[in-house]
Order: sequence, then structure tokens, then C-alpha cells
Amino acid sequence: MLKDQDRIFTNIYGMHDRSLKGAMARGHWDGTAGIIKKGRDWIIDQMKASGLRGRGGAGFPTGLKWSFMPKESDGRPSYLVINADESEPGTCKDREIMRHDPHTLIEGALIASFAMNANACYIYLRGEYIREREALQMAIDECYDAGLLGKNAAKSGWDMDVYLHHGAGAYICGEETALLESLEGKKGMPRMKPPFPAGAGLYGCPTTVNNVESIAVAPTILRRGPEWFAGFGRPNNAGTKLFAISGHVNNPCVVEEAMSISFEELIETHCGGIRGGWDNLLAVIPGGSSVPLVRGENMKDAIMDFDYLRGELGSGLGTAAVIVMDKSTDIIKAIHRLSMFYKHESCGQCTPCREGTGWMMRVMDRLVKGEAELEEIDMLWDVTKQVEGHTICALGDAAAWPIQGLIRNFREEIEDRIKAQKSGRMGAMAAE
Ligand code: NAD
Ligand code: SF4
Repeated sequence: MLKDQDRIFTNIYGMHDRSLKGAMARGHWDGTAGIIKKGRDWIIDQMKASGLRGRGGAGFPTGLKWSFMPKESDGRPSYLVINADESEPGTCKDREIMRHDPHTLIEGALIASFAMNANACYIYLRGEYIREREALQMAIDECYDAGLLGKNAAKSGWDMDVYLHHGAGAYICGEETALLESLEGKKGMPRMKPPFPAGAGLYGCPTTVNNVESIAVAPTILRRGPEWFAGFGRPNNAGTKLFAISGHVNNPCVVEEAMSISFEELIETHCGGIRGGWDNLLAVIPGGSSVPLVRGENMKDAIMDFDYLRGELGSGLGTAAVIVMDKSTDIIKAIHRLSMFYKHESCGQCTPCREGTGWMMRVMDRLVKGEAELEEIDMLWDVTKQVEGHTICALGDAAAWPIQGLIRNFREEIEDRIKAQKSGRMGAMAAE
């Protein structure tokens, strides 16, 4: 179990004062100007050495991403955009940072903006996050009043403004290029990549879009040193990480733990075990709804990091939103519910996603009721393969993967339901 002194988020449960005074008492905003004065290259090198991989789900190395930004301005301003549009089903970790530890994010925003030559940072906040907006705005106002933002922010010599932008509740606006479109006042529809935002982002200017947690951990990494952070987790999976565990555990929670903790330790130490015991575990979605589910018996010994979950189990760490389902779950119905979600949230701009999400949802509905034919299972698999990898953004893949996970892991259950329904129908016909 991670020791208390190694926790970055010391107020994740809101037990302490979240104001600037309270944050400073817990060690935040300590020596910020000194960090900035060490220079851009130093900061980016430290971030690279820490091994931090993006906490928004994709796991792209953060220091490397920062290094893509131009060192000198070519006449265009550079921007930092913080993706706080946390909407992935099961995911609620950034919410806790913004509610209870907002200064970790604002301090990180200042340091990251300086490192990327940006004088402005936009925080794009999920539409439903009202309390989080209030907490963040309060923290931003406190920083302006204390001289930690604005001209010569924190006496660092760097001018820096932070703007909070409240989204309107569309999941797709969490996709980084749709988010940029939305910030520009347009419909939130993803752009083709490349160009990546570092080349042409907000208003066509160099932009880095980072997740809340990725930015909020940066000041502590720079204060304590990259070796400290890299000391947690297996190689290529460094650091501490917020896990959001929901579903059929005895105590659902958000908790900061060392990367590469085993699933069993995570659940036993922080969640009071699986409801009804380990034999009652049916399936787990280990990283938010966009990653394939895993059968319960394969999860017990699982290592909770990017490489193990993808390499060994064909799933992923994603946002580390761990959704636990016990044997009371109608697993086909659960995945059908996700297919409804993706159908609803598709922006409709590319044909495989627009049409495919509807197809998949309708076939899933028939599978739930057992009304489909057995051949439709393979047909559904084929449809997921025609969507996967053939769309502008990752929503298409995200819609396909849970269904692939279901068919891969629970084919027998799907077939049994169709057969049972069929024999029921035949029995009823014979009785007539
Ligand atoms: P991605 O792999 O396309 O990109 C990840 C990041 O790395 C982006 O910022 C991208 O610009 C950058 N990047 C990747 N390759 C690059 C390159 N060659 N040059 C420069 N920059 C590069 O993934 P994505 O579509 O941004 O994100 C998908 C993930 O988002 C999924 O894995 C899912 O887990 C996650 N997700 C999270 C939420 C949430 O609420 N946090 C919601 C939906 C999805
Ligand atoms: Fe829109 Fe779906 Fe295409 Fe993404 S994959 S751009 S959500 S239609």
C-alpha cells in the first residue's frame, strides 16, 4: 500500500482545507518560482525522466508531448489546454482533484504553461461539473489575489492567465480536437490528426492538451524529483495513479496508489473486497468503458498498469476507472447499455461510426432479449471490425471494443440465451 507521505493528492477526500492557505500548508505552491527559474529544458527533461504517461487514458508520455511545442514563438501564441471534460463512464478521478485539491492543478498549469511557452491556459470543464467549477474558480481567484497568476505569476517572471470554460455535456468534447473546436465556439466535432495540436491546435496555434491529473502531479514530481516518481510501478508504467473503483465492491472509492499494484491488493486494501467474495466476481472493465472487459478469473492476479492490461489481457488501463461486476450482472445488458451510450454520443461525422454504432446497438438489443439468430454473433463481430480503426477519432474504437470483449469472453452465455429463447418460442408454438 502506498505510504501517506508518498501521496500527491493529500486532500482527495475533502477532509482538509482546500483553500490556498490549506494547500500551502500541505506543501503546494512551495518554491514554484524556483522551479520555473530552472528553465524550460530542465522542466521538460525532468518530466521525461519521471516516466509520467498521460492520465487521460491514452498513456502518451507527458514530457515528450511537452517537448513537441515550439521553443521560440514564430509569431503565433502557444496555449496549454487542460482537458477536464471527464466523461468516460466509470471515471471520476479528476472530479475529486478539482473539488478538493484544485491548487495542485493551478500550480501545475503555471509550470506547464511556462515550460511550453504559453501565457494562457484554458481549462475545459465537463458540463455537469458545477461544484468543480465553483471550487476551481475560487482557487483561480485566490491565485490572482495572491499574485500567483497574472503578471509575473508567483514572482517567476512569467505572465500567465487561466480561463475556465464550461462545456455543455457532450462526451465527444473530451476528444482533444473536438474540445478545441468547441473552445473556438464551433460544434464539437473531432479533427483529423495529424496535424497534432502541438503543430496546429487552438485557433491554429501550437497547443498542448493535457488531462487534469497529468498536470496536477507535475509540481510534486518537480519538487521531489523524477527518480522518486519513477520509483513506483514497473518500468514504462511509472508513478502513483488515481484509481476510481466502482460497481460490486464493498466500498467503491477513488484512491491514489502505486502503478502496477495487483488488482487483488487494490480491491482488498481499499474496497473491502468483492461483494459476495472472489468467487462471485464475473467481469471487470479495468480502465473506463472504452477498454474491453476481462473475465473475473483472469483479473485476480492482474497487474494494474498500461503494459500488463494491454499485453497480457487484451484490455487497457485507460483512465484507471475500474468497473467491477459480480455474478448478479446481466453482462449482455451491461454492454448493451454502453452501446446505447456510444450511439448517443457519436458526433455522426464519419459513416462507420454514425451507422455502425446504431447497428451494434440494435443487434445488442436483440442479444439481450435472446431474439437474435446465432449467426448474428459473427455478424456483430464483423461490424465491430469494420468500425474499429476506420473512423476519425477513437470513439469508433471505443464503441467496438466493449462488444468485442463481450463476444471474446462471454460467447457461450450469448449463445445460451439465444438457444433458451428459441426453445421457449418453439415450446410455446408446439403448445399452441
Ligand atoms: P491518442 O493516442 O490519439 O493521443 C493521445 C495524446 O497523445 C494526444 O494528446 C495526442 O495529441 C498525442 N499524440 C499521439 N500521437 C502523437 C504524435 N505522433 N505526435 C504528437 N502527439 C501525439 O488518444 P486520444 O484519442 O487522445 O485518447 C484516447 C483515450 O482517451 C482512450 O484510450 C480513452 O481511455 C480515453 N478517454 C478518456 C476519457 C476521460 O473522460 N478521461 C473519455 C474518453 C476517452
Ligand atoms: Fe464523430 Fe464517431 Fe467519427 Fe469520432 S468516430 S469523428 S465521434 S462520427
